Amino acid sequence: MNEFDELDQTDRDGVHDVVVVGGGPAGLSAALVLGRARHRTLVVDAGEPRNAPSAHIQGYLTRDGMSPAEFLARGREEIARYGVRLVRDRVTDVTRDGDFAVTLRTGGAVRARRLLVATGLKDELPDVEGVAERFGRDVLHCPFCHGWEVRDESFGVLASSAMSVHQALMVSQWSKDVTFFLHRVSEAELSDQDLRRLAAAGVDVVPGEVAGLVVEDDRLTGVRLADGTVRARSVLFAGPRPVPGTGLLQRLGAELDETPFGAYPVVDPTGLTTVPGVWAAGNAIGFSEQVVHAASGGYRAATAIVGDLLMTRLDAAVDA
Ligand SMILES: Cc1cc2nc3c(=O)[nH]c(=O)nc-3n(C[C@H](O)[C@H](O)[C@H](O)COP(=O)(O)OP(=O)(O)OC[C@H]3O[C@@H](n4cnc5c(N)ncnc54)[C@H](O)[C@@H]3O)c2cc1C
Repeated sequence: MNEFDELDQTDRDGVHDVVVVGGGPAGLSAALVLGRARHRTLVVDAGEPRNAPSAHIQGYLTRDGMSPAEFLARGREEIARYGVRLVRDRVTDVTRDGDFAVTLRTGGAVRARRLLVATGLKDELPDVEGVAERFGRDVLHCPFCHGWEVRDESFGVLASSAMSVHQALMVSQWSKDVTFFLHRVSEAELSDQDLRRLAAAGVDVVPGEVAGLVVEDDRLTGVRLADGTVRARSVLFAGPRPVPGTGLLQRLGAELDETPFGAYPVVDPTGLTTVPGVWAAGNAIGFSEQVVHAASGGYRAATAIVGDLLMTRLDAAVDA
């Protein structure tokens, strides 16, 4: 079954109540609520969800262990029941002249009264040989996502900044065998408190640049330092640099807030950005939004949009 719709002339000519940009957990959850509230809704999804490299979603009550692909397929099935349209495409620009004009990569544009940006983020991985290939398998970033599955294995943690100490300490909850590779961070950058906590957690701190990973039979077996020595490790935690998908919001003039994990839109508790009529949800508003948070944020934004559309219509009727 093809779960995606083809954009037709009606889609192009009419004005949608809401266009949702991004069909991950945040966007699909919002679309479900909007569809059930009888709103004419279009989801545009480029089809590159953040957790695609991973075989399982963990920590989402009742969905623990489900594959990301199945989760999204189930979501797409659910929104289709309520008449939500879904196209596989990428939004390349948005402008506003009363309504929003949403430009698609395959050509043409659609119009919307309200916009929900649920474009996620990209993980920019450390430039170390082997890391990108193993990401989501035995190179991991999040102990809450994967820690249980690799508990008690031999962990490495690749420092990308002095803040990586936090990651080295956190993963010690899942294994007592943790080696912290300082890589390009010098020991002098770590505070006394960091060093004392690392010692208390039993974390082995190893200075020196990491040159690459040792992989045998399609499994990580070690971490190779630039001096040629190899430390046997079966799991490596690394801290990717998050690159939030905020390009469209920036074009609309949304205010962003700088954080150590990237610049995210300033939003109210419903996800409303500083641009009237534009909401955001999921990893587009924060680095630590897990799947359950993203779905919840999409839901919350959708309910606010439903209220906003209704009050706007009623106020116009009153004025008339
Ligand atoms: C390896 C890995 C494993 C993870 N494991 C877990 C886990 O076990 N449990 C957990 O809770 N969380 C996990 N996460 C985090 C999880 O991926 C995020 O919480 C979740 O993806 C956020 O959902 P989202 O809808 O905000 O973004 P996404 O899922 O990334 O979806 C965004 C969608 O928007 C699309 N898009 C982007 N820009 C455009 C555009 N301009 N036009 C149209 N579409 C666009 C993208 O292609 C994508 O399909 C993991 C992350 C990684 C990297």
